[in-house]
Amino acid sequence: RCLSDWSSDVCSSDLRADPEPIILTPEANSLAVEFAALDYTAPDRNRYAYKLDGFDRDWVQADVSRRLAVYTNLAPGHYLLRLRGTNREGVPAARDLVLPVQVEPDWYQHRWVQALAILLALAGIFGLVRWRTAFLRRRQSDLERQVADRTADLRAANERLERLAMTDPLTGCANRRHFMQRAAEMVSLAIRHGTPLSLAVLDLDDFKRINDTHGHPAGDAVLVMAGRMLTDHMRGTDLVGRVGGEEFALLMPQTEADGALMLAGRLRAAFEAGHTSTDSGPIGVTASIGVAVLLPEDDLETLYARADAALYAAKQGGRNRVTLAPAG
Ligand code: GH3
Ligand code: MG
Ligand code: MG
Repeated sequence: RCLSDWSSDVCSSDLRADPEPIILTPEANSLAVEFAALDYTAPDRNRYAYKLDGFDRDWVQADVSRRLAVYTNLAPGHYLLRLRGTNREGVPAARDLVLPVQVEPDWYQHRWVQALAILLALAGIFGLVRWRTAFLRRRQSDLERQVADRTADLRAANERLERLAMTDPLTGCANRRHFMQRAAEMVSLAIRHGTPLSLAVLDLDDFKRINDTHGHPAGDAVLVMAGRMLTDHMRGTDLVGRVGGEEFALLMPQTEADGALMLAGRLRAAFEAGHTSTDSGPIGVTASIGVAVLLPEDDLETLYARADAALYAAKQGGRNRVTLAPAG
């Protein structure tokens, strides 16, 4: 591109004092500069050095066999290519030749494009993080809902099982096991607090005959009616259980002998007056009831034994009656 006689310090027309820069476009981003010193007396003894300011750190030495400076893929920007020559005597030219080089950026090398790309990348990452966070939150709340649903189902199933384990399936009263367990707790509580408590044990009279006459299903219907009758007569704090085939027990906290006898009497009368509607017609049934009142030295076993003895006495006395166990 340029040629100069350094020894005479004359620039060619291309190398004016303030030369136009060489402009490298992105499509042709390479630069090759061939140079020669115009001292032809002993050209093989001429020496050269060049340096591209902004790219080379040091001068690159060259001799007559390598009079070419080549640069490719330069980063966009402004450079100065400096050329230095010595003649056969080793005398350097009075001044370096300087060629401005301007490398134009490709479209993606513009700062604003790069800033935009960074912004877009950041926005993309931000969006991705937000989307992922929302996704994880949604999944977490789905899981929490599922866990809550399962827990509620499980709790309901457990409650159902517990109820089943405590309940007599035919009458819906407490079963024998649950009655005895709860009754023992209530008895020891009454003993500890010195509060009154009574127990009534009720047995249907001649129930075998009902089964024999009307059939087992009719007998079952009578048992269901008996359970309902007891439940209707009990108070909120009382406990009713089916403790045998046709035998029920009613535990009455805060109840002295008078109250217990009154309730037992009402129950007996209700059985006598009532009937159970069955396919084979209405069936009446009476009940014998033994009542015992809690003594300070009692536990459930001794209390129950006295109520049972009173029931036996009621049966012996002709059935369809209430008998109070003697105290002590
Ligand atoms: P008592 O007046 O002396 O009590 O005479 P009873 O016939 O009631 O007494 P017994 O103990 O001789 O007979 C009880 C009958 O109760 C016998 C049994 O078949 C019947 N039974 C027990 N459990 C059930 C049941 O779940 N359903 C029906 N239908 N009958 C039952
Ligand atoms: Mg009976
Ligand atoms: Mg019986």
